[in-house]
Amino acid sequence: MKAVAVLPGSHEVKVIEQEAPRISEPDQVALRMLDIGICGTDKEICSFEYGTPPPGEDHLVIGHESVAEVVGVGTAVERFRLGDLVVPSVRRPCPHPGCLACRSEHQDFCYTGDFTERGIKEAHGYMTEYVVDHERYMNVVPPGLREIAVLAEPLTIAEKALSQIFWIMQRRPPWLDPQTPIQERGRGLSALVLGVGPVGLLGAMTLATAGFTTYVYSREVPPNPRIDLVSAIGATYVSSQTVTFPHLAAQMGNIDLIYEAVGHSHFALQALQVLGTNGVFVLTGVPGLQAFIEADPAHLMRNMVLKNQVLLGTVNAGPEAFAAALRDLDAFRRRWPAVVRTLIAGRYPPEQAADLILGRPTGIKTVIAFDAPP
Ligand code: BGC
Repeated sequence: MKAVAVLPGSHEVKVIEQEAPRISEPDQVALRMLDIGICGTDKEICSFEYGTPPPGEDHLVIGHESVAEVVGVGTAVERFRLGDLVVPSVRRPCPHPGCLACRSEHQDFCYTGDFTERGIKEAHGYMTEYVVDHERYMNVVPPGLREIAVLAEPLTIAEKALSQIFWIMQRRPPWLDPQTPIQERGRGLSALVLGVGPVGLLGAMTLATAGFTTYVYSREVPPNPRIDLVSAIGATYVSSQTVTFPHLAAQMGNIDLIYEAVGHSHFALQALQVLGTNGVFVLTGVPGLQAFIEADPAHLMRNMVLKNQVLLGTVNAGPEAFAAALRDLDAFRRRWPAVVRTLIAGRYPPEQAADLILGRPTGIKTVIAFDAPP
């Protein structure tokens, strides 16, 4: 079967042939991969800046955003039948008995760093025709979400962030109104999303759905389909080319939440300076190597203390975030059907993966499908 692999030793990204995996343990499922999304992490891996092949191997099969069909079940599998759709999670626990996070199935909070991530760190990924994995890492996809379920994994970033934020902020104003129904828990709060990549846009959709008054700030200028999408979900787009951070802050009033989805350290530091009183700043971008910058830590520290601010980094996600992502994808589909139809830019065969990953992204989410016409 075919797989798309990166070979760090020879600096290649190519389609390879490998043997199809077989179920070898009773709690495993066999999956036919339907859609595999491309993201910024894949670009870094294919530029040889990130990612590690499994120990002793010269290549890493990439791909960590996916949706698959169950085509085989081990004898002890209880939750799945042939034909079911699943989104597999990415991270697998470290082996250390003392890691409280991994031993309690919270490997997204792993202490040791010895976790693996499929398609990223020491474990092959999903950009291949068939995969075998343990049932417990599979998330059930309702059949109606087949076309967009590949967006669930990138959406888990916002979902995990939101649940962490509300858990941390629940006892402080203006976050604590106990009368607010959980579906509208952002009502009365303002959120600023940095970036219009898939993580930023999906984050903006999640925040708008949760009731936040949502702004999106990035360098793009109109006309741009990503800006149109921001307007279509009822959020306000502001371009950094025409409005500075202080002016944006004046326009927004107290900024309760900043959701960073750019991975640019300088931009993030500038944004931190306009975070409001009792505000929370969430970092989701993983910056590559960037120029050294000067900062004013005294100003930042003063703000953080005197304004009760919270700085939160978040990575990867557990099963609750996957379940929330699949629920929200359904909510997006009902609320903004026309927008949701534009989220998947196109499905392409694996032979085009390298060019698509390394080229300029067109549309919102580009997908590799092994049955896409050449
Ligand atoms: C993936 C996460 C992963 C992170 C860092 C992201 O692109 O969505 O699952 O933890 O990269 O490797």
